[in-house]
Amino acid sequence: MAIYDLKCDDCGHDFEIFVTGFLTEADKQCPQCESRKVSQKFYSSFGIGGSYSGSGGGGGCAPSGSPFG
Ligand SMILES: [Zn+2]
Repeated sequence: MAIYDLKCDDCGHDFEIFVTGFLTEADKQCPQCESRKVSQKFYSSFGIGGSYSGSGGGGGCAPSGSPFG
């Protein structure tokens, strides 16, 4: 699976398409003006260079009272 970043040469519309395989000529069409003169900028696959939104923290969980005493 990959997301392709394309740009229309006719109207300059910047868009992305999501394909589950390789990018075909049929996929390369501007959704705005339906032109097929689009240029591929780059693509990004899932799992490469992904930055996780880490749930940091690690707060103290100290008991307020001692069970003994
Ligand atoms: Zn266009």
